[in-house]
Parts: sequence; C-alpha cells; structure tokens
Amino acid sequence: MSNSTYKEANNWLSEFFRCVRFREYDLASNLFLEEGCWRDLLAFSWNIITVEGKKDVADMLKVTSGRISVGEWEIERSSLVEQDGDSYWFTFATSIANCKGKLTLKDGKCSVLFTSIVELIGHEEATLTRRKKGYINEAIRGRKTWLDERIEEEKKLGYIEQPYVVVVGGGQGGIGLAARLKVLGVPTIVVDKNERAGDSWRNRYHSLYLRNTVWQDQMPYLDFPDNWPVFMSKDRMGDWLEMYVRVMEINYWSSTICVGAKYSEDLEEWTVDVKRFDEVVQLKPKHLVIATGMSGNPKVPDIAGSKTFSGVICHSSRFNSGKEFDGKKCVVIGSNNSAHDICMDLWEHGADVTMVQRSETLVVRSETFFSHSKYTEAIADSGLTTADLDLIGAAIPYQVMREQMKYVWSQIANEDRDYYRSLVNAGFLLTFGEDQSGLEMMYMYRGSGYYIDVGATELVVKGLVKLKSGVIVETVDESGMVLSDGTKIEADLIVFATGYQPMSTWVSKLISPEMAVKVGECWGLGSGTKYDPGPWEGELRNMWKPTACAGLWFHGGGLTQSRLYSRFLAMQLKARIENIPTPVYSPQKIKDLQ
Ligand SMILES: Cc1cc2nc3c(=O)[nH]c(=O)nc-3n(C[C@H](O)[C@H](O)[C@H](O)COP(=O)(O)OP(=O)(O)OC[C@H]3O[C@@H](n4cnc5c(N)ncnc54)[C@H](O)[C@@H]3O)c2cc1C
Repeated sequence: MSNSTYKEANNWLSEFFRCVRFREYDLASNLFLEEGCWRDLLAFSWNIITVEGKKDVADMLKVTSGRISVGEWEIERSSLVEQDGDSYWFTFATSIANCKGKLTLKDGKCSVLFTSIVELIGHEEATLTRRKKGYINEAIRGRKTWLDERIEEEKKLGYIEQPYVVVVGGGQGGIGLAARLKVLGVPTIVVDKNERAGDSWRNRYHSLYLRNTVWQDQMPYLDFPDNWPVFMSKDRMGDWLEMYVRVMEINYWSSTICVGAKYSEDLEEWTVDVKRFDEVVQLKPKHLVIATGMSGNPKVPDIAGSKTFSGVICHSSRFNSGKEFDGKKCVVIGSNNSAHDICMDLWEHGADVTMVQRSETLVVRSETFFSHSKYTEAIADSGLTTADLDLIGAAIPYQVMREQMKYVWSQIANEDRDYYRSLVNAGFLLTFGEDQSGLEMMYMYRGSGYYIDVGATELVVKGLVKLKSGVIVETVDESGMVLSDGTKIEADLIVFATGYQPMSTWVSKLISPEMAVKVGECWGLGSGTKYDPGPWEGELRNMWKPTACAGLWFHGGGLTQSRLYSRFLAMQLKARIENIPTPVYSPQKIKDLQ
C-alpha cells in the first residue's frame, strides 16, 4: 500500500461519508467516475443492488443517504487486503449495523465502491466469543438439559408455536440458510420431500463427484475434515449434509412435501400446506423461502414418437448408473456436465455411447479451471478465511467481473489451445460464452451450458464416445431416433441431459401462476445472451433479496453462492423479526417491496 494512494483513499472516504451524513448526494456522486459503479449488500439499500454510472449512484444516494446514519469508519489493515493496486477495504458502522466496504480509485475518483452489512448491532451471531454459555453454574429446580430443550422445540415448532420462517427445500441451500437463522435465533422449519437430509445429492447419478473443490464447497460454520479429498463424491456430500442438519440443530422436516402456499396481505402471513409423512400440517410463517433448487424441474423436449420407444428413456435426473448397459447402444442428448458424466459412466461400463450436441458448449479442463481459482489450500494457509474469500468475490460487481472474466478466459483458451484444437477437430461445438466471458458468467446468466472436464473430453476426441453435433432429435421410434440431419441412430437407452426449468416455475407450482407473473424471473443478470434476456439488471434477479411479494424470498445456487448469500438473506430476516426498519431501495419495477 503506497502512502499517497492510502491518503487518497482516506480523503475520498472522508469526503464520501461527510456527504452521506449531510445528504450532499450530488457532491458525493461527483466523487465517482462517470462510469463508476457501486454494489451494495444491504448496508445502504436493504437490497442486493448494483448501480452503474454517476446518475444512478446519485439517485441511490439521494434516497438512501437520509436514511442511514453513519458513525465511525476506517481503512482496514487486516488480512482482507487484496493485492490489486488501488483497492482499499474499510469498515464503517451505521446506527444499526457494522459494515465493510471496498473502494477502488482511478485517477482520484471511484471506479468501484462496495458496501455490505457484516452484522446487525445487538443481534450479532452467537458464535465464537459470543457463543452461549450452555450451562448455568447454580442449582436450578426443573433444569432442562440441551436434549430436553431440543426435544421440546421439535415437538412444539409447527404445531404449538409457529416458525417465523419456512424454507421449502432442504438441499444444501435450505440447510445452510437454516443454520444461519438458527445461529441468529430466528425460529425456522425446513421442509423437504426426501426421506433423509442429503438425499438431494444422493439421488443424483451414481458416478457424480462435485465439480468444485473442498475449499470452495464448505458449508457455513463447519469446515470439512482436513483429510477429505479435494473432490468429493455426491454421497459423501449427502452424508455431510445429514450430519450437519443434526449438529447444527436444524428443524428439518424430511418426507414432507410442500403442496401449496398462500399469502395473506391482511395478516402479513403465509399459510403453507405441507404433507408430513401421512399427516397434513398447516404452517403459518411470516416469511417463506423457496429453496427448491435450480435443478429440480427437469426440462424434457417433447419429441414425437417418444412413447413408442421400446428401450429405456429418461431425464438425466432419473439416470442412476451405466451398470446395466454393458454392450448396449446408448444415446445421451445434451453436452453439458451431466451429459458428459453420463456418457463417461456408460463408456466405463462397456456401452456403445453417442452424444448428441445441439449447440455450443463451454469446456474447460478441471486442472486449468482450478488453477485460476482463489479457493485453494495455499490461500487457506495464508490466513484468509473462506468468509474473506467470499467477500472478496462479492465485492466485484458483475459488470466488472464480466470484463475480468473475458481476460481470464482468453488466457485459458490460449493455455490449452492444443486441447481445444483437438476438441474442435473432433466436431465439438465449442464456446467461451456468447460474450466470451466464460463459465462463471454463463452460470450467472443461465445456470448451465458448460462441462468441467474430468475425463470425458478425451473419449469424445478419440471417438470412443461418438459425437453428433449441430443436430437435434427430430423423432423417436421403437428402436431409436432420427436426427435433424436425417441420421438414424439405434438405441437401447436414451438419456435427456437437457437441463432444468427456471426456478420461477416453482412459484407457479407452489403459489399461483399470477404470483409467478408478479414476481417475475429468478436468476440471470439480463445479459441479453440466449436464455438470459435483457435488460441488464446487474444482479441475479430475485435472488436473496426482497421480491414483489412481501415475505417471499428465493435462495439457491452453487455451494459457494449459497454459503455467501445465505448470510445476507438471514440478516434480512433477522432484521424483520427484530422490527428493525428495512426500507428497501429499488429503482426497478418492483413497487410493493416490503
Ligand atoms: C448433476 C449436477 C451436478 C452438480 N454439481 C455441483 C457442484 O459440484 N458444485 C455445486 O456447487 N453445484 C453443483 N450443482 C448445482 C447444484 O444443483 C446445486 O449446487 C445444488 O443442488 C443447489 O442446492 P439447492 O439446495 O439450491 O437445491 P437442491 O439441491 O436441488 O435442493 C432442492 C431441494 O428441494 C426439495 N424440494 C423440491 N420441491 C419440494 C417441495 N414441493 N416440497 C418439499 N421439498 C421440495 C428437493 O427434494 C431438494 O432436496 C450440480 C447440479 C447437478 C444437476
């Protein structure tokens, strides 16, 4: 950190917070570059929002600066300092929260500002030095042990007492959020239709290993054992989640399906109908979180003749293992992660496999992908925590990330050019994203479209898995299918690895089609690329933030996102249960935000 730029940052922050205090929003916005942007996670806006350009910054300051009362601030000199030139992390406090931010200056003006709540003052997480005592050192008549209290809570919650929050969907997302709410003391029930916590992973195909590393896949509060391998089998993850639910004392109703939910604006309360084993229970929470996953509603193309097929035909979510297909002709429709994994599994079991690729797919070698990741053992050893790394990522607005990623992915394309050449020569339709911004952005735009190569690409390149690209399945008949180029393929098995329907379909299913329209799309940044129509919103639509329906929230995403944003969602819910005013700033079309 050079002194002059430190001084510059100090002056900038001093002037910024002075302007905020005195509501001099025009002056404050002049501290930004014309194209400068500001990402705020709750601290100013009680929203998850990025404003881009001086005018939008001024608009946000105009509304929010009068609402927040900023106290002390200071530039941080801790381990949470990135080595990227003119960026400075700082802490600040408002009357209700301790906050953290990051300032990036260019020629004395702000190019990127990040602000976020860290904790609500007086309602901090009961962790570490704040943990509860657990045992009172005096004689108490009728003392209840931890077990007594736990059993009592399980008996009462949902029957005698109502939870403040119901989370529908107890995959890793719902579970992580419930853990955070537990620590914050917000009564919560998670309902999941599966028999056991962890089944969300166990029920996926047998050969699946998580694509991200152990360092990236951590759940909140509890790290995986140090001897766990870098890449985890889905069953190991399933077991971890089951254990996690127990040790984090989550009120987890397994074998419980949510069949419908209705919001009463008068009572400001939900009625959530669930079927718990054979019992019908009505829950009445103030808040409902949909955490049913982006990979829950299979998307299967409606192909003429499918019903006449004499072999096995299924969606990838129903496929278990290649074990029964030794020597059989198998066709996998699709070319993303699941399609490649299933092709490889079938090949390993001796099947004759064909992959049908409709359109371009991003492929990256697993080794290359993780050589560009910041979540590694080395970083963990450097003193940065997972939470630090998460915040470093969160501090980058998506439009900035998109530009950074274009550079990273051009490097990857170059590093592995021979690998990519052989893939293209094999006929594979390759992309690095419509805007060349690579996998991470593609995930934000549409949640799919890529394969992290753990071995199947070699099979495709060598022709051991046959490839038909640039075609779709036109018709299916008793013995196979006809592709759009007229090719006939015989098959004993057809697997549709064709992805999942958008998360917003859950609203239609569980609440009503009208509510689905009112709330709008979930996920996607509005990049204007295929499957993510514009306009650009700069944040994932409706995720972890207030929606157009009071008391309705969405949670999900990969493990890294779930871990990070569950913290912000939990704080929003905690603020509401504590009646802390949460005026939401939203310049978008959402009118009746809570
Ligand atoms: C093949 C595959 C591999 C993946 N690999 C990775 C990876 O390596 N790393 C990663 O981070 N992500 C990976 N993902 C993405 C993955 O989907 C998410 O990370 C993860 O599953 C999201 O968790 P979730 O809790 O949001 O949703 P899910 O895990 O899908 O959980 C949703 C839960 O909701 C429940 N549910 C649905 N409807 C109802 C209802 N009406 N009532 C009650 N319960 C209901 C379901 O039973 C389910 O348990 C992968 C996805 C797929 C399909």
